[in-house]
Amino acid sequence: QAKRIPGTSLALAERHFEQMSSSALENEQALRKGIRNHELYLDYQPKIDAASGRLLGLEALARWQRPGVGLVSPVDFIVIAERTGLISELGAMLLERACRQIAAWRLELGACVPVAVNVSPMQLLNQGFPQLVERVLRETGIPPQCLTLEITESAAVENLADTQTQLQQLRNLGIEVAMDDFGTGFSSLSMLRELPLSTLKIDRGLISPLPAPDAVAVVTAICRLASALDLQVVAEGIETLEQANAARDAGCHALQGYFYARPLAVADAGAWMVRQFSNGTDCAAGKGAAA
Ligand code: C2E
Ligand code: MG
Ligand code: MG
Ligand code: MG
Repeated sequence: QAKRIPGTSLALAERHFEQMSSSALENEQALRKGIRNHELYLDYQPKIDAASGRLLGLEALARWQRPGVGLVSPVDFIVIAERTGLISELGAMLLERACRQIAAWRLELGACVPVAVNVSPMQLLNQGFPQLVERVLRETGIPPQCLTLEITESAAVENLADTQTQLQQLRNLGIEVAMDDFGTGFSSLSMLRELPLSTLKIDRGLISPLPAPDAVAVVTAICRLASALDLQVVAEGIETLEQANAARDAGCHALQGYFYARPLAVADAGAWMVRQFSNGTDCAAGKGAAA
């Protein structure tokens, strides 16, 4: 009988598979429990107006403080949520949380600071998603201009017609829609024309090599295209002054990244805004949207 090579036996493969699926199950149960026990929350990262240096708005980024494990990246738990169908519940909870926070800041500051919420493709393509957003806006009483939704291109690539319908309904509510991580995936240029977007967010992968000339050329071309399509441009992942200057000179309207601020806890984001407001630098959609 042939000798088995350790590590290739079927038994070992089965054991590995069992471990994997039992840990997948554990992750699902832990996430379910985490949602119930309020272990998930949002940090807020500022977005800066490239021309004036003022605060333009914030992006809400999900965090999971998992007991016994520590901070879990959204990249990891959003996947779990999508695979297990928990994404609708989790997405709705995070959207409500962000909108309640917008309402609280509006009360505190007397102005509306626009907040962007990330939406996963599965969540976006959920039939009732626009109705959910409408309900949350109504219940929290915030003006729709205070909310932006960030979507990624994978939803659109897989299902352009449905994405179009959903986005149009969202735009009809008066909220803004941004295409996130632009330049990394397969977004075709015709898709940009066909989707009712308000903003392009250029991915960090294209921003970090700035101010290298070839990177400047790419970012400049994207900004020209965006301008022709009447889209705002946000550069994400700005880590240095040189990148900030190059992105601004290439035509990006807004800048976001560790150079300005990391994602902040609610209280720190609040302090950031108070500082901006007391400097007389009330944010763009500010006073008008309050009242
Ligand atoms: P994203 O929406 O493109 O968010 C930007 C990510 O880059 C964030 O990572 C942010 O912390 C990080 N970042 C910001 N500035 C810099 C910088 O200057 N340098 C570097 N190296 N990184 C920077 P994070 O928070 O880990 O989120 C990762 C991704 O997870 C997000 O990418 C988004 O796609 C997804 N995500 C986060 N929150 C949510 C959510 O509430 N719902 C959904 N569906 N997805 C979310
Ligand atoms: Mg985003
Ligand atoms: Mg992004
Ligand atoms: Mg990204």
